[in-house]
Amino acid sequence: MKFMPKTLKIGAHLQTTGGLDNAVRRAEEIGLNCLQLFGASPRQWNVKEPNLSAIEKFKEAKKAAGLEEVYLHAAYLVNLASPDSEIAHKSEENLKAHFKITKALDADGLIFHIGSGKDSPKDEAMKKVASAVRRILEDVDGRAKIVLENSAGGGQKLGSFPEEIGEILKIIDSKRAAACFDTAHGLEAGLMFQYDDDSVRDFIKRWDKTVGWKNTPVIHANDSKTASDSHRDQHENIGNGHIGISGFENMAKFKELIDKTWIMEVPGFDGNGPDKENADILKKCMKQVLVI
Ligand SMILES: [Zn+2]
Repeated sequence: MKFMPKTLKIGAHLQTTGGLDNAVRRAEEIGLNCLQLFGASPRQWNVKEPNLSAIEKFKEAKKAAGLEEVYLHAAYLVNLASPDSEIAHKSEENLKAHFKITKALDADGLIFHIGSGKDSPKDEAMKKVASAVRRILEDVDGRAKIVLENSAGGGQKLGSFPEEIGEILKIIDSKRAAACFDTAHGLEAGLMFQYDDDSVRDFIKRWDKTVGWKNTPVIHANDSKTASDSHRDQHENIGNGHIGISGFENMAKFKELIDKTWIMEVPGFDGNGPDKENADILKKCMKQVLVI
């Protein structure tokens, strides 16, 4: 019998212009039941925490919309593996502040890019990331998870291979640390040449052996503007890139993937970010598979 989840969990990274609760309304408007957002500016070291009324408004809107899951995305500046001790320290403080906001919003987790150790040995860089995450988890309690995202590779970036993510999670050794698989980054890092049936099957096994699907609550569902092994991180609308409709259909066939939270971070057909058109295409890919 084919495995079928009760609800498909589909979301997108949406803008919070005019208030955090506006992102919830945007999710509803385009027909999504999950959401990803920034809790504070992604381009600043200083973190401006949302005030109590903004937090309450967000929680009320989330409840009213009946959102299944909410993730925050960390700032782009964060590099826990940086060999520059000042950058590493600022990164840890920034990530911790975003994690506090994640807790305050009662969100499910905070997704971050693992970073790059530059010239330092990879083992050392991975240990550095793990120690920083452990300290953050010690300082901020609650149910939210810190989620490590796979990277597109290049420039000594950590986490382009599932083996590295698995290794870092092993050192962190906490149920509150998890992983996110970004479909565009996977292709760009060269984990597969294309998302055909055999490659997806092999990849699913490899990820399970190293990171574990049970430790992976989120998929970043993005098509890629650049080809396999490009090491260039450029997201494309669903179906318009090198993954294509068939790639998303192939992924949705697998029970390991279909019940995850699928979050789109796509440019949008009018260039204003994730939209109803992308949401409908992704839903079609996922539902088509369910009726087989
Ligand atoms: Zn992503």
